[in-house]
Formats: sequence, structure tokens, C-alpha cells
Amino acid sequence: MLAGCGPSGGPSDTGPTVQGAGTKAGMGTETEAGAGAEAGEGTEAGVGKGPGGGAGRSSGPSGPSGPSGPSGPNRPAPGRPPVVDHVPTRDKVVFLTYDDGAERDPRFIDLVRRRRLPVSMFLTDSVVGPGYGHFARLRSVGASLQNHTLDHPALRGLPYAGQRAEICGQQRKLTSRFGIRPHLFRPPYGTYDTTTLRAAADCGIKAVVLWRVTLEGDGTLTYTRGAHRLAPGDIISVPAGETPPLTLAERTTRLLRELEERGLKVGRLEDYVR
Ligand SMILES: [Zn+2]
Repeated sequence: MLAGCGPSGGPSDTGPTVQGAGTKAGMGTETEAGAGAEAGEGTEAGVGKGPGGGAGRSSGPSGPSGPSGPSGPNRPAPGRPPVVDHVPTRDKVVFLTYDDGAERDPRFIDLVRRRRLPVSMFLTDSVVGPGYGHFARLRSVGASLQNHTLDHPALRGLPYAGQRAEICGQQRKLTSRFGIRPHLFRPPYGTYDTTTLRAAADCGIKAVVLWRVTLEGDGTLTYTRGAHRLAPGDIISVPAGETPPLTLAERTTRLLRELEERGLKVGRLEDYVR
């Protein structure tokens, strides 16, 4: 099954960031991650409204293919989309992003409508299958629909033509199904290389969106890097599980309670990354 952008066995367990001690230790993805942070990406392409630097570190999710990509560091080049897993902002917001489109929980639509949640859905065509009606309804109640490839391959290392076909192909699908042209792209498993960034740019993508926090199937939060607590600007990934202990609506409700306790609200990612 294609669903599941690696909740368990995915990016999060490659990034055992230890709170307090040696936050960068053990990441093993510094080559890829360092590039974005050093060059202060995020400002040049309009990512982030906040004053803080260090946007767009992409160290966390590296996917099952491991940290050693074929093309080395991703130095942001002109015209290449920034890679973000956290938005530098002082606004008390976090961003809810849902992957794949496998879980079609009608109560989730009610929740998004009732609570007016500006969530982002990263859709894979082959996973969504005939379920486009569900996502059209979600969109009508305030969700945004974004690109997560046609077939959910691990893109890193694939030739340009193949990567471009996956990304541009899904752009075309989303355009024809919903009349939209997404600006955000999430690579499956969070794994990508410089070719991905080039292909994404050529397909009209403005930013590549990873995540720092994962909402697991049982409702707990795991962190790919940094402090093990929610912070303003965090991008939270909600992977689609096979048969998660809690439904999408239940997991989201639990998270909303936690956000409330911390004085955080759900922000619209497109307002901060564009
Ligand atoms: Zn996925």
C-alpha cells in the first residue's frame, strides 16, 4: 500500500533528537540539511514572516533511503524552491498538514468545518483514487489541496524526467479535478535531492514542505529534530496510517486540545510560505 508517508519506520525514527543534549547529534542528515539553514533560505522566496533566521532546515525527514543523497548539499539556487520544515514566526500558530489522502474520515470534514481549520492536504493521485469528492468537500470547508506526487515514489536519486513527471503530473491532475494550481509540494517520505527542487520549480512549485513534528496514529507527537515540544511555526505532519488506533478526527481533536493548552492556533501554511 502506498499510503503512509512514514509515520513509524519513516523519517521520525531517523532523527532521534535528544532534548537538551546535543540537539543535532545523530541526525545524520547534515549534508542535506545544512545547506538550507546556512544560506538563510526562506527569506529569498518569501518564506516566513517572522524575524527569526534559520528557516527551512530540512534535516529531519530523510526517508528510508538514508542521508547520503547522490547530489550532495542542496544549496538554494536562484529559482529553486526553499525547503521548509518549520516557519520562522512569532505568531502563535502551527500548521497542520495531512499526507497522501488515504484516510477519508467524514467526521474530519465536520471538524475542519466546525473549527474552521485551515489545514493543508498533500495528495497523491494513486492513493486518493476515486475519492476526489471527499477532498472537494474538504476544500469547500477551508482545506487547501497540495501536491504529493502521482504515485508516491521516493524521489531522491531518480532522473529528472521521472521526478518531473511525478510532480507536474500531479499538478495537472489537481488542476483538472479541482481547478487549482498548488504552490506547495511535499516529497513522499520527505526524501529529495537537488533534482527534485529543480523539477518542482519547473512545475510551478514555490516551496517544498517537510515537517518537524509528526502526529502519530495513536495521537502522540514525535519530533524529527529540535526540542520535543510544540513551538510557534511548527509544521506538523499527519501521515495516513493503515489502521491507526485513532481516526483522523480523533487524532486531530486530541492535538487541538494540546494546542489550546499551549496557546497555539492553527495557521494557514499558504499565508506563511508562498
Ligand atoms: Zn506520503
